[in-house]
Amino acid sequence: MKKKELVATKQKLAALRNEIVRKLSNFRNASKEVETDIAQDLADKAESSYTKEFLLSLSDAERDQLFQIDSALLRIERNEFGQCQTCQKEISKKRLNALPWTPLCIECQEKVESGTS
Ligand SMILES: [Zn+2]
Repeated sequence: MKKKELVATKQKLAALRNEIVRKLSNFRNASKEVETDIAQDLADKAESSYTKEFLLSLSDAERDQLFQIDSALLRIERNEFGQCQTCQKEISKKRLNALPWTPLCIECQEKVESGTS
C-alpha cells in the first residue's frame, strides 16, 4: 500500500473511532459531576473503572469495532497494515476500502465464518 493511501486509511479509521466514541458523549457528560467529588488519591482507580464503564456502555458490536479499529491503527504504526493476520497474505484493496479495520483476508474470513479454520 502506498504511503498516501495509508495516511488516508488512517484518517478514515480515526474518524470512525471518533464516531463511536462520540456516541458516548452523553454518558461522559453525565459522569462529570460525579468525577469532581472523587478524591485525588482515588483518581487512578476511578480512571480505570471509568474506562471499564465506558466500554461496558458500548454495545457488543461497537466494542468489537472499536477494538478492530484500534488494532488496525496499531498495524499501520507497525507497517503491517493490509496484511492478513492469519495467513500473512496481502488483503485486497477492494476489501480494505470497504472494511479498513479488517484483520483478515477474504479467504481466512470465510474460514472463520464457516467454522473450519
Ligand atoms: Zn488470510
